[in-house]
Amino acid sequence: MNEENNRYKIVLTADRTLMSEYHGGIFLGFSACIPKGVIPDWIYFSMFCPSVETLENGAVKYAPYGTRKIEAALLKYGFETDEIIVAHPERLHKAIGPATRVLGITENDPLGIGPATSTFTQLLGGQAYMAIKFKEILNHPSVKKYKPKVIVGGAGAWQLEPEHIRKELGVHCVVIGEGEEEAGPLFEKAVRGEQLPEVVYGEMVSEEKIPVIRNATIDGLVEIARGCGRGCRFCVPTLQRLRCHPIEKILQEIDVNLKAGRRPLLHAEDVLRYKAKGIKIDKEAVIKLFKTVKAHPGVGAIGISHFALSSVAAAPDLVEEISGLLNVGKNGEWFSGQTGVETGSPRMIRKHMRGKCRPFAPEEWPNMVLGAFEILAENNWVPCATLIVGLPEEKEKDIDLTIQLVEELRPFKSLLVPLFYVAMGCMKDETESFTMEKMTPKHGELIIKCWEHNLEWSKILLKEYIVTRKFGVGYGIRLFLSYGINHVKKMLDICRREYNYDLKQMINDVRSGELDVTPRPIRIINKLINMKH
Ligand code: SF4
Repeated sequence: MNEENNRYKIVLTADRTLMSEYHGGIFLGFSACIPKGVIPDWIYFSMFCPSVETLENGAVKYAPYGTRKIEAALLKYGFETDEIIVAHPERLHKAIGPATRVLGITENDPLGIGPATSTFTQLLGGQAYMAIKFKEILNHPSVKKYKPKVIVGGAGAWQLEPEHIRKELGVHCVVIGEGEEEAGPLFEKAVRGEQLPEVVYGEMVSEEKIPVIRNATIDGLVEIARGCGRGCRFCVPTLQRLRCHPIEKILQEIDVNLKAGRRPLLHAEDVLRYKAKGIKIDKEAVIKLFKTVKAHPGVGAIGISHFALSSVAAAPDLVEEISGLLNVGKNGEWFSGQTGVETGSPRMIRKHMRGKCRPFAPEEWPNMVLGAFEILAENNWVPCATLIVGLPEEKEKDIDLTIQLVEELRPFKSLLVPLFYVAMGCMKDETESFTMEKMTPKHGELIIKCWEHNLEWSKILLKEYIVTRKFGVGYGIRLFLSYGINHVKKMLDICRREYNYDLKQMINDVRSGELDVTPRPIRIINKLINMKH
């Protein structure tokens, strides 16, 4: 279709926070959850969240993996390449025109209420960039003018299930769950101008029906397996069954990314359980995967997205072998990935995430986590681990156990990210999300202890990670963050000494103006701005 006047029949996009590679780092990726107003927009979007490259026609060179899968599904269904564009959200005027019938948006957290975003917005105040940027797409002048049908999918699509929210936003259809099988017929309906179902629940797609991506993904992400099967009660249903892709298919997607200059980042909920039989790790299959990918022409380095601590503890020799194979530790380099500590309480594990510790028993969880961190440290793996604050039915002694575990993890190079519990999955209707109002000084102590851990390790990680990769911008980020780290350290001290960990009270005092924690340079800038007016 296109080009100049009519533009594209199908336009796919994602909000601006998803259209960044965050300097190739999972650590800076969490900055996507920082609310607007904490740092000036121009610093945030130039330093922390720089945009992916765009082409003349508004297309992005790299796109979120989910968007690329939908693009591939539509092409497989029969749409032509010149009918579809994956466009930059700030270049929609180049992609949307009179011929545009449908706008497909990938969203991880469209309302800013997911665990990571809601934690940051509640603690720091302000609105999530993700929610702001999602609304900006819906209110884009080209969307208003040409009125394509709007279909939203992605990990955060569940947030748009209530009718009044969709109506208010102007979303015609939301796809909750996996979208590859639904996309073709749905987009065809939209193209024909037919009535769309308002909510579609995408079924689990079998391995052989998941199409191979046609164009490059953010950070070279390539899915090696989908699903998990550990069955945590708050997890989304589509992660219930583990499905692994054959190596040939993985290599095809790696080639797509290599052509665009991206090294492979292997993605699975637990990379160590590639081809696992139930919970039992298949070491041979994992090693074969890593060996094959490493030997593949053009592959220099390999990254991974997630791994489970119970898999690390169950197969320390596998971790060691992967490290040896990839020369991890050579020249001071390390391997990183996201994982979940979630709690230090065996009772909470037994109640909400029994499968998470398998093959170990819930009672073994705290020691197992410690053992896994030790194995990771010995093999130069740096975990970025989440913890859940405010699990349903959590008692003070459960939080005490988590605090104890956090203290024991202090010697290990890692990040510990405390996130507020959000009612999702099977527990969506039977539990309530954790909020600031429910925060006790004990919760405050847990959050403060995690951030003390992070501040201690951040300086070292920043130096080792950013500056060695991108000197120019990296040096700026390091300076900026070093200043931020010192400032946050002072705030944590105040919370500990003057508020006895009552973080909620301290935040209330900051919001009411009783306590001024604005950094001096910002205070001076504010004064200057006020003088001008
Ligand atoms: S381990 Fe993670 S991905 Fe697996 S079920 Fe639990 S929360 Fe979901």
